[in-house]
Amino acid sequence: RAKSNGRGRVEIFDAALRAELDARARLEAEIRAGLAGGQFELHYQPVMSVATGRLRSYEALIRWRHPERGMVPPNDFIPTAEESLLICEIGRWVLDTATRQLAAWTRQDPQGHGDVTMAVNISARHLASRTLVDEVRQALHESGVPASRLVLEITETVLLDEPTADAHLGDLRALGVAVSLDDFGTGYTSIGQLQKLQVDTLKIDQSFLRSQEPATQALVQLMVTAAHAFGLDVVAEGVETQEQLDRLVAIGCELAQGYYLGRPRPARDIEISPSAGPQVNAANG
Ligand code: C2E
Ligand code: MG
Ligand code: MG
Ligand code: MG
Repeated sequence: RAKSNGRGRVEIFDAALRAELDARARLEAEIRAGLAGGQFELHYQPVMSVATGRLRSYEALIRWRHPERGMVPPNDFIPTAEESLLICEIGRWVLDTATRQLAAWTRQDPQGHGDVTMAVNISARHLASRTLVDEVRQALHESGVPASRLVLEITETVLLDEPTADAHLGDLRALGVAVSLDDFGTGYTSIGQLQKLQVDTLKIDQSFLRSQEPATQALVQLMVTAAHAFGLDVVAEGVETQEQLDRLVAIGCELAQGYYLGRPRPARDIEISPSAGPQVNAANG
């Protein structure tokens, strides 16, 4: 069968592949221009302590203010950037920008922000690169942010695919930087493996909160209990309702992030008032 119309198929495949490669090359060129032209910005989403309502951390989430296409979400360009070394350039810009922002907030409100941390998403390829550890050290040095206030969010694929990633994680943790395992539960890491991983925090993927199934809720309970037994903090991602928050309290999950607690917002929309301590303005503003 393949033989009878094989030729035509090859041509169609060729054309489709060429179009895809062209599109990718164009996007890469645009990303490069965007970096040079200051088109990227970070939005910051709070991570809150469930029990106290206190601000624990901000997660920096990248956005691309594209001259024609408007605000482009990370899922539309990060995967392409990850196919080349561009992701390292993006990652470095994010590290520099996020640490400087945390330093600025701390200057504005030393009391309230003195122990607030900043979480930055790091792609597998960047973690595997030889330069990441130096880049982190430099970002900390230039911003004046102590290592203990930086959190690097990685996904579990990183730990499985990249032989050098593990060594770099060790170097980063030796610096005093914390590591968070993002989107936990969506990949192949088992709860038992958590014991061996070099991470400080587990972020339970938002898909788990969405489900009403008793079995899924039991799974969340299990993840929280196991993580605590291994000495890890746990953050529930994607909290959108008071009911979900109540469930987390019942389960003993101490940290939460989601639209209900605060949406990602640009720094210019986040007001820092010196005396009031850490707080987050109207959740959906
Ligand atoms: P992530 O690190 O798991 O980030 C959480 C995503 O969930 C964010 O999407 C956030 O806006 C969204 N989110 C937060 N709370 C809720 C909620 O209550 N409901 C729903 N439906 N969504 C919520 P965003 O900003 O579009 O980022 C998507 C992904 O892109 C991130 O997933 C992360 O993997 C990646 N990403 C974002 N910024 C960067 C970056 O600077 N570098 C790298 N390498 N990846 C990044
Ligand atoms: Mg993340
Ligand atoms: Mg996540
Ligand atoms: Mg994700």
